[in-house]
This record gives sequence, structure tokens and C-alpha cells, in this order.
Amino acid sequence: MNKKEIFGLTIEKLQELFVQYGMKKFRAKQVYQWLYEKAVFDFAQMHNISKTDIAVLQENFTVLPEQIKILREQDSSDGLTSKLLLEFPDGNSVETVLMHHDYGYSVCVSSQVGCDMHCAFCASGINGCIRNLSTAEIIAQMYLFNNRLRTHNASVSRVVVMGSGEPMLNYDNVMGALDFLHREDTCNMSYRNMTVSTCGIIPGIARMQNDARPVSLAISLHAVKNELRTSLMPVNKGYNYLDVIAAAEKYAVKSGRQVTYEYILLKNINDSTEDAELLSNCLRFKHAAVNLIPANPVIEKGFERPAQAAVEKFLRVLQKNRINATVRKEMGKDIDAACGQLRAKFAEEQKRAYENNGNK
Ligand code: SAH
Repeated sequence: MNKKEIFGLTIEKLQELFVQYGMKKFRAKQVYQWLYEKAVFDFAQMHNISKTDIAVLQENFTVLPEQIKILREQDSSDGLTSKLLLEFPDGNSVETVLMHHDYGYSVCVSSQVGCDMHCAFCASGINGCIRNLSTAEIIAQMYLFNNRLRTHNASVSRVVVMGSGEPMLNYDNVMGALDFLHREDTCNMSYRNMTVSTCGIIPGIARMQNDARPVSLAISLHAVKNELRTSLMPVNKGYNYLDVIAAAEKYAVKSGRQVTYEYILLKNINDSTEDAELLSNCLRFKHAAVNLIPANPVIEKGFERPAQAAVEKFLRVLQKNRINATVRKEMGKDIDAACGQLRAKFAEEQKRAYENNGNK
């Protein structure tokens, strides 16, 4: 018999299924607590469930986080960032990053396997988008970390959808995941502690505005000269950055949430004083904060990180223009924490190993 995936089912659905399988309805709530409050995924460890019911559960259900293989695990040398390369049962893999901040733990989840946006500096989209992640696959990324944090008596308090993939192109599953985590009987996480980052898919931003969850919005801007932005981010052809900023500003006004604009600083490409002045002009009087990200170099593509002095100079121009800006605290540089870098490296290593074996 085909087992059913339990992870991500609503409590109502679970109650219905439990009754069908001859268990008491209240068991659903107990299992729910184990899965989503305690991050325990092995039925055998759910101490308040009877042996008979554990057997029924094992016979009828799979638990996604237990089905996920951890292909690679890297911790940064400062111990503040951990990255997992996860393989789903169908063989596809994604990356997930845990960051330890002063205020607690946040997790950066992927929304798609690969990505179709083809940003020039990003390693996620090398093979395009293979498929969308399901709601359960998105939340499982966070729960795997909650499971690990149990020994520290801690859990993740913020989620950013900023891993690989374009969340607006998998809107329903991403929002489904955020809604699930928001439920009182799961994580009870406030929407304000969730951020969705987009390269600028305007219909998605408009949908978020209509849906009216107070989720934070981040825009990957990265350039404010039209041709340059198109060359770095082809999405600019369809959704021009000025229109994106206008849509994001509407979202900010409607939601009361300031929008974060991500700006990767690429040496000699978008890091001049002129760029900083243009960026200020675009965002002046907007509900905006700029997050400057000194690029994780993608050497093959000729992208380098500017010198520290250039980063500071860029920041000072923004501050002089009264734009709220910070330089992103660097986390996990030594563990390929930028989008898709670990997955790309793993694929490259596998390919090399395969070729070497073939040559033997
Ligand atoms: N598609 C969404 C979310 C995924 S990208 C978006 O575009 O926002 C997440 C963030 O990582 C983006 O801001 C992206 O531009 C950034 N990023 C990608 N490659 C990077 C690199 N080499 N160095 C630094 N940041 C990078």
C-alpha cells in the first residue's frame, strides 16, 4: 500500500485520516505537537502514543523530514551559520541556511529546485528551474533545523524565502508554507518575522498586496541603470526596475512594512559614486532600506568584490542622501552560503568523480 505523506497536512485533515485508520481523533493533536512544536519526526519517539497506534502510523504515513537525505553539511568557522544540502525523495536537491543572530535563529529557505531567472552573478540557475517545491518541502527545510536545535532548547524564529528559486513563481506553495508556519498549532510565527525576496515579478508583488499578510518584502535590485540591470538580471526586460520600485512602494504603503532593497556590490560594475547617487534618487522619500551585499565572487563570470573602502564610500553616499542603508553582516562566506553555490559545487564534484571513474 502507498503510504501517505503526513508532513504539511492540516490538523483537520489529520483528524479525518486518523479516524479512518481506526485511531482516536485526539491523537492527531498529539502527533501535531510532536511534529510541529517539538520537531520530532520518528513515530517511535512519540512517547504519549500507544504502541498499537505507532504501528498504524508507521504503516500508513511517511514523514518528509525523515525522507530527506542530507548530502552535505557545512558550518562556518565562526559557528554562526550552517548550511545543508538536502536531497528530496525524487533525487532533486536544494540548499538551506541557518543563521544565528543576536535576536535568535533565522533560516533561509529555497522555493524552487534551481531557478529560471538567470541572474548573471548567481549560481542557482545554472541548469534552470527543475521544479517548484511543495509547501511541505518548504517548511521541512525549517523543521530540519528545529530538530537540530532541540538539544539547545531553541528553535527558528524567522524565515526568509531567499534561497534558490524565485518565490513569486511558486506563489501558492510559498504562501501556503508561510500560512502553515503562522498557525497557532504549528510555529505560531508572526508574518512580520517572514520575508519574501523577489527579483521583481510585479504581478507577485501585486498579489501580496491584495492578500494583505503583513509579510516583509525584499527586492533584489542590484543595479539602477537600465541596460546594466538587464545585463545582470534579464527579468528587467519584462519588469523594469522603476516599475518594480513603484509596485514595492505601493506594497510598503498598504502593508505598513518598509521594503528592503538588496544591492550586491560588484567591483567596477555597479559600485561607483554615480551608482550610489542614482540609487539614492530612486529610493528617496520611499519606505525603503538598502542592504548592501559585498558580492560573493563568481570568478568564472568575472565578478569581484569591491575593496572595503569602496563599500564604505558607497554607503556614505547613501547616508548623506538620507537613505536608510546598512552593509549586510557577512555570514557564511567560508561555506559557499550565497545562492546555489554549494549545490553547484556538489554537482561539479559528482561530475568530476563520474568522469574519473569512467576513465579508469
Ligand atoms: N529570486 C529571489 C530569491 C533568491 S536570490 C530574489 O531574486 O530575490 C537571494 C539573494 O541572493 C538575492 O538578493 C540574490 O541576488 C543574492 N545572490 C545571488 N548570488 C549572489 C552572489 N554571488 N553574491 C551575493 N549575493 C548573491
